[in-house]
This record gives sequence, structure tokens and C-alpha cells, in this order.
Amino acid sequence: MNATASHGIEPGEFDYVIVGAGSAGCVLANRLSANGKYSVLLLEAGPRDTHAWIHIPLGYGRLFKEKAVNWMYQTEPEPGLGGRSVFQPRGKVLGGSSSINGLLYIRGQHEDYDRWRQRGNVGWGYDDVLPYFKKAEDQTRGADDFHGSGGPLPVSNLGHPDPISAAFIEAAVEAGIPRNPDFNGASQEGAGFFQTTTKGGRRASAAVAYLRPAKSRGNLHVETSALAEKILFEGRRAVGVQYRQAGASRVARARKEVLVSGGAFNSPQLLQLSGVGPAELLRQHGIEVVLDAQGVGHDLQDHMQVRVVMRCSQAITLNDIVNNPFRKVMTGLRYAAFRTGPLTIAAGTSGAFFKTNPRLATPDVQIHFLPFSTDKMGEKLHPFSGFTASVCQLRPESRGSIRIGSADPAAPPEIRINYLASEVDRTTNIEGLKILRKILQAPALAPYVVEEVDPGAKVTSDEALLAYCRARGTTIYHPTSTCRMGNDPLAVVDQNLRLRGIDGLRVVDASVMPDLVSGNTNAPVIMIAEKASDLILQDAR
Ligand SMILES: Cc1cc2nc3c(=O)[nH]c(=O)nc-3n(C[C@H](O)[C@H](O)[C@H](O)COP(=O)(O)OP(=O)(O)OC[C@H]3O[C@@H](n4cnc5c(N)ncnc54)[C@H](O)[C@@H]3O)c2cc1C
Repeated sequence: MNATASHGIEPGEFDYVIVGAGSAGCVLANRLSANGKYSVLLLEAGPRDTHAWIHIPLGYGRLFKEKAVNWMYQTEPEPGLGGRSVFQPRGKVLGGSSSINGLLYIRGQHEDYDRWRQRGNVGWGYDDVLPYFKKAEDQTRGADDFHGSGGPLPVSNLGHPDPISAAFIEAAVEAGIPRNPDFNGASQEGAGFFQTTTKGGRRASAAVAYLRPAKSRGNLHVETSALAEKILFEGRRAVGVQYRQAGASRVARARKEVLVSGGAFNSPQLLQLSGVGPAELLRQHGIEVVLDAQGVGHDLQDHMQVRVVMRCSQAITLNDIVNNPFRKVMTGLRYAAFRTGPLTIAAGTSGAFFKTNPRLATPDVQIHFLPFSTDKMGEKLHPFSGFTASVCQLRPESRGSIRIGSADPAAPPEIRINYLASEVDRTTNIEGLKILRKILQAPALAPYVVEEVDPGAKVTSDEALLAYCRARGTTIYHPTSTCRMGNDPLAVVDQNLRLRGIDGLRVVDASVMPDLVSGNTNAPVIMIAEKASDLILQDAR
């Protein structure tokens, strides 16, 4: 990927400067450079995606604490979790979080996007965004009304549908939840297997799907280990980015636009460092105010997960493989030879979406089922046979914030999620756990169950279940909405993702979601960036 001299452009000057090569940034880099007319610089704070575990689906467990490719953030003490700080992994590598995530392909509910539209965001209703989901997708089952084929992003069936994961689906059906073979089709509700962003047993990160095919384009320039420190302004127009690379400070000028795709934690941080954010916060850190934008860093949302761990009666879980040197080697050989088997397992095998209250219009809880167990994600698997299912409340009401704690661009931002601050959030988690237990106690799973290890059979009252959520609840890695799209005074970007009050600057990533979608967030971010690319190219004409 080389400089743009052949396009007659001064080194250091580009049409578009993109900050962050994550899920969104890789899509933008591909789409904006595709017609060859525009020069594009993609700046990524992390390295190239050469770490071997990135490309092996189960490797995501190894990347939770891998500093070389992970920002490894911690929240401030969370009042709703007894003052615990929650670990927040984020990808810091080409592909961003899509290079370290759990690979599940879930779009959310049709109603999520219709709600965005209902809040005044023209062009973001389900019918508007469906074409962009389809454009991105290369669905292994082929194209239909809801799916696309031939797009850059491979979406595949599970590589290793093990018997316990299948039994979980049967148990959910026995507990009264409908069977659903496609969570991304007509309706999300039900139980079934997940699909993953993989191809041939390998991870399809945004870097693999979007950046690799574009790498020989002369008008696309990618800089890694390049930390954007500041967006540069002339008056209220963004004109470039100052970044640090190999100890030196550099400047890239943007003739058309600066596109901020640093993710839900880093995008508001960069805006605040650049003088766009709550004026009193910026002054506190000696930063000159370009625009007093109170909404920057406001409205942070995240999905929490509360895990139930089961002891299994048969030595067929991943714990049994990992704890047995012979089986471990055989699993490695099988993967090396055929790209199949347990190493293709993602962050969930099967799952379910259900309502904790029949009066709700759509599901408010997602279950992720996994044929292994551990005390904490990313840590050693249990020495016994075990499996896990977690409750994830889909539309939390609690809101948090991102605020710089220092004017130093290398310092982490202060992250406050405020998990369980709302009564609805507390009740939904309690009711979700009760329904999950019904599934885990259904006949189809009986041949596999010895006992519930966590929270354990003694934990039954609402108070005790809530105490368990507070003690053990953690993130399921879906922060959003810190530079929210909308029309109200706290909205940061408009429906074309342009920063309100500033020219030449857009935010394109998970931070622009008006609110959190009811599901995993990678596919929605890729959709957002596909749509943003069209909006940007339309304005460039
Ligand atoms: C452990 C984990 C598991 C997950 N599992 C799933 C899953 O199974 N399914 C799913 O759908 N979603 C999952 N997600 C969430 C999903 O991956 C994210 O929502 C999505 O990738 C976010 O995309 P983004 O473009 O907003 O940000 P990111 O993909 O995080 O990209 C931001 C990029 O910007 C770079 N950057 C930030 N600041 C700067 C700067 N100042 N200068 C230069 N570069 C910068 C970062 O290094 C990063 O590469 C998971 C996330 C994690 C962390």
C-alpha cells in the first residue's frame, strides 16, 4: 500500500484521512478508494494483523489479554457492581475489535432501526439499512430477501456443531421458545445456532474482508503504529490529523474530510483531545475549545453479561480437550489439516432471543451458549467438564460516559458504564436468569447436567440473583452511542454522520448509534460504514 505520488498529491496530503482501521475504518478505506479518484490515508494505532491467533476463531480467548493487539481498558469503579472495575478489551490492530472479537454475526432487530428512524434519523429505518447489510454480506446459505451473497464479508454456518450446543436449542424449545434457524431473517425471536464471520475455518475480520482486497490500490495508504493525537482545525473546519509514529509527530492534511473511526471509547476521546467536547471538561485539562459539544462522550451504553456455569456429566466439553494433552494435540492437527473442529468455535455456538415479559413486542434478552467454562473470559478453562450460558439484556436503560482524564493522548479515557443503574436493567437480568435456568433444567439437557456451579442452586431469591449480577456481571463488549446521531442538543452527528457545528468531519463507527441495537454490534457497525461510504461519496461529487 503505497503513497500517492502517482496521483499528483503532496506526501502528507490526502482527500480523506481515516482514524482507526477497525470494523468501520476498513470498510471506509475500501469503499472510498475503490473508484480510484480519491486518495485515502488510514491511520491505525496498532500493528498489522500478523498475530497467528487473530485468524483462528477460538484464538479470541487468547487475545483478551494480549497487549500487543488490545487496548485492555478498565472502567472506573462501577457503583452498580459494588465498586468493581470491569475489564474492557478493544482491538488495537488492523481490523480493530473485529480482529479480536467473538465472530458472531447478529444484526439486531428490525425494530432497532425503525426506532432510530422514529427518533428523526432519516435513512436509518430497517428498510433503509437492509440493502447495506446485504451489500456487505457473502452469506454461505445464498441470497434471499434478507441476505446477500458476493459481498466482502463471509458469513458462515458453525464449523463445529457439538451435541451439547444442539441440546441447548432443544431444551429452549422445551422451555417454550420457538426454534429459529435464522436470527437475521424475518424475526430474531427463538433458539438456534449462531452464524459467524468466518471463511474456511478462518476469521474474516474487517481487515481480511475489506482491507486485503484493496491493498494494491495506489491511492490507499495505510499507516500502522500511528496514534492520532489531535484533529487539526482551521476555524470550524477539520483540515487534518496530527499523529505520532515511531516517536515522531507527523501531520496528514485532509483536502475533503477527516473520518473518525476510533470506536466508542476512542472516538469521543480524540474529539475531546482536539477541542470538541464539553467545554468545562476541556478547559479543566487546558485544551482550547473549538466547539462546546456537550454530547461528545455522553450516552455510553454497553451490553452486560451474567454467566451461568454448569458442570457437565460427559467429558465432551472444550475443557476436556484443553485439559488433555493428547486431545489438545489432535485438535490442533485436525485444525491444521482441515480447518475444522473445536478451534473453529466462536464466542457462542447456539443461543436464544426471548422476552422476559410477554407484554414486550420483541425479545429483551439474548443467551450465548458455549461448550466450555471458565471463571473469567480469557482465563484458564475449569479442570472439570463444563459449559456456560450467559444472559445479556438487549436494551439497557443505564447510560454512562467517556471523559478524558488527561490531555495526554496516550492516556486511557475514563470509562463509566453505570451497569444496573436502572430498575428495568436489574429486573430484566433477574428474569433473564430465571428463564435461562428453565432452559438448563429442561429434559433435552438432562443427559449432560450434573449441577449448576455458578451461581449455584442455593441462589434463588430475586435479591440473591441481583447480588450475583452485581458480583459477577461483566461486559459482553458492545459499547456504543458516545457520539450519537440525532437532532436533539446532545446529538453529536447528524443523519449523514457529519459532526454538528464542524465542517469536514464525520464520525463513522459504533459511537454514532442513536442507541444500542438488540444484538452483537460488529455487523451493525459494518452496515453503518457501508452506508457512510455512500453518503461521503455522494457529497464528494
Ligand atoms: C472481545 C470482544 C468480543 C466481541 N464479540 C463480538 C461478536 O461476537 N460479535 C459482534 O458482532 N461483535 C462483537 N464485538 C463487538 C464488535 O467487534 C465491535 O462493536 C466492533 O468491532 C466495533 O467497531 P468500531 O469500528 O466501532 O471500532 P473498532 O473495531 O474497535 O476499531 C477502532 C480502531 O481504531 C483504532 N484507534 C483508536 N483510536 C485511535 C487513534 N487515536 N489513532 C489511531 N487509531 C486509533 C483502534 O486501534 C481500532 O483498530 C466484540 C468486541 C470485543 C472487544
